[in-house]
Amino acid sequence: MKKKIIAVLIILVLAAFGFWWWKGSTPAQTPSAPAAPQDKLKVTASGYVAYSLLKQIGGDRVQLTMLVPPGTEPHSFEPTPGSIIAVSESDLFVYVSPRVEPWVNDILQGISGVNALEAGPSHPDQDPHIWMTPYGALEMAKRIEKALIKTDPAGKAYYRQQFDAFEKEIKTLHEDFNRELANCQSRDVVHVGHLAFGNLARTYGLEFQALTGTSHQGEHSVHRLASLVRFIRQNGVPAVYTEEMIASDLADTVAQETGVRMLPLYTVEEVSKRDFDAGITYTDYMRRNLHNLKEGLKCQAQ
Ligand SMILES: [Zn+2]
Repeated sequence: MKKKIIAVLIILVLAAFGFWWWKGSTPAQTPSAPAAPQDKLKVTASGYVAYSLLKQIGGDRVQLTMLVPPGTEPHSFEPTPGSIIAVSESDLFVYVSPRVEPWVNDILQGISGVNALEAGPSHPDQDPHIWMTPYGALEMAKRIEKALIKTDPAGKAYYRQQFDAFEKEIKTLHEDFNRELANCQSRDVVHVGHLAFGNLARTYGLEFQALTGTSHQGEHSVHRLASLVRFIRQNGVPAVYTEEMIASDLADTVAQETGVRMLPLYTVEEVSKRDFDAGITYTDYMRRNLHNLKEGLKCQAQ
């Protein structure tokens, strides 16, 4: 009798242990739940374009680091030993393109076996600024989603859900650009900056004139500045646009010479400390661009 009780007890203990083991080994039943801080995926972004898209898709499951600090010009950035350590300790490193961030090559050459994703277009003939259209940003977000799932398969359902939410946001953004830029007094965007907005202009039927090319080399000339001034005067262009990366005194000169108003356009490549601390998103920046295009081109509400 006593032996029987002991046997039953042993079975009960084994069953309880078995249940505990089974519970512990079962994957989380709620994949959308955020990971605990120590379990978060360590992801490093080159600059703000990659950072903002990673934040959107990685959400609470990733612990994000950005190499180019807020308020820093991204093309003149030089990686520090700290940048190399950050990348080598990451589960995933995401950058846009060496054509936008030439310094990324120095980092990748210095470390072996990095799990890295080039989220931008790889074709050398394509303008690398594809995030400047809503669907171009979505294309990059899709690559980021795939890389996150590959690196962290347990988060698959969560990353999918984040991507779907971003896709909805992008669809609305694109519709708003189409509708709100449909009926404007001018379609000429004169930009005292580099050619970051070519894709945006093509998508929404705007004519785009920039001070420099797409290359970030800043090869602007007095000659080019003078030709922009002439263009504004001859075509009755109502505004001149400036960007955060090129000294605004050049845009100031154009505005003063022509008497038109000056408005900023945001490339998302750079983020101010203030916007960064406020948690500005990709969509927020694009809505600022839409607002300033509407104002500067004198568009009628549809
Ligand atoms: Zn650029």
